[in-house]
Amino acid sequence: MTIIDKYQQKQVFSFEMFPPKGKHNMEKLHETIDLFSTLKPDFISVTMGAGGVGNSKGTVDITDDIQQRYQIDSVVHLPSIHLSKPEVSDILADLKRRNISNILALRGDEHPGTSRSQDFNYASDLIEFIKESGDFNILAACYPEGHTQSASIVEDVKHLKRKADAGVDAFVTQLFLDNEYFYRFRERADIVGIDQPISAGIMPVTSKKQIERMIQLTGANLPKKFVSIIDRFGDNPKALLDAGIAYAVDQIIDLLAQDVNGIHLYTMNNSYIAKNIYRAIKNIV
Ligand code: FAD
Repeated sequence: MTIIDKYQQKQVFSFEMFPPKGKHNMEKLHETIDLFSTLKPDFISVTMGAGGVGNSKGTVDITDDIQQRYQIDSVVHLPSIHLSKPEVSDILADLKRRNISNILALRGDEHPGTSRSQDFNYASDLIEFIKESGDFNILAACYPEGHTQSASIVEDVKHLKRKADAGVDAFVTQLFLDNEYFYRFRERADIVGIDQPISAGIMPVTSKKQIERMIQLTGANLPKKFVSIIDRFGDNPKALLDAGIAYAVDQIIDLLAQDVNGIHLYTMNNSYIAKNIYRAIKNIV
């Protein structure tokens, strides 16, 4: 069964992780995947830096490992903002050789000092290219509060429809902290005729620093309830972690009750988070 078939049958529960920064972190990463595998996620996706072709190997190796060694479906992220068509073709050929058939196709963000791709302006260009290059399941990103570079959510959803029509099989959202944004976004997507399943991206807060960085990157709005948690527990890391997990569980249960197609957990390679969230929802998903 492909991960796209799974969306037809259930509420999909997936994890996102990032590749290790240095070789010495590989052992730690395997310990994390060991734990993840006991939680039986429907798939694990692995992020890739957008800086250019040099970033792909670590991500592809781990995606391959998850599939071969742990027998869990895996998804490779592929940002194309600094890649040419021949470079993407080489990556796709490598994926085919390794039987990796799930790609999260992205534009990515520009790295200063690196020239932009002449071939891929938007994720939809990459999606069309992948479609022509072989038989891959294609996932893509979407933004319940609108992408930070979009003039409005209306414009963003218009672009999203173009991306959907280019050949997306399923979407995964940017993190959000207020489910109402997700529900409104789902309605907008429905109105413009986007009928692919949409997984909700949930990132539990683990530290004050992490939340500040995350807000800066994504522009996510902070609900009052969330701000109170940061104010009250921001200087107590253990308390903040537990409160962050409880907040995420609350969001997830509400989303599952409202028939979300899937939950995509931004694990930040933290097995404590994954384990505790899974425990709280294991009889629901
Ligand atoms: P696009 O879909 O191309 O959209 C980018 C912007 O262009 C939007 O504002 C959109 O409205 C606009 N746009 C789209 N099409 C058009 C058009 N035809 N004309 C005019 N405007 C248009 N980044 C990484 O580097 N590595 C990762 O592994 C990674 N994983 C991610 C996973 C998820 C689930 C998410 C939500 C994001 C991830 N990102 C990752 C971040 C992502 O690369 C950035 O958010 C990036 O800014 C946008 O990528 P995109 O694929 O959504 O771009």
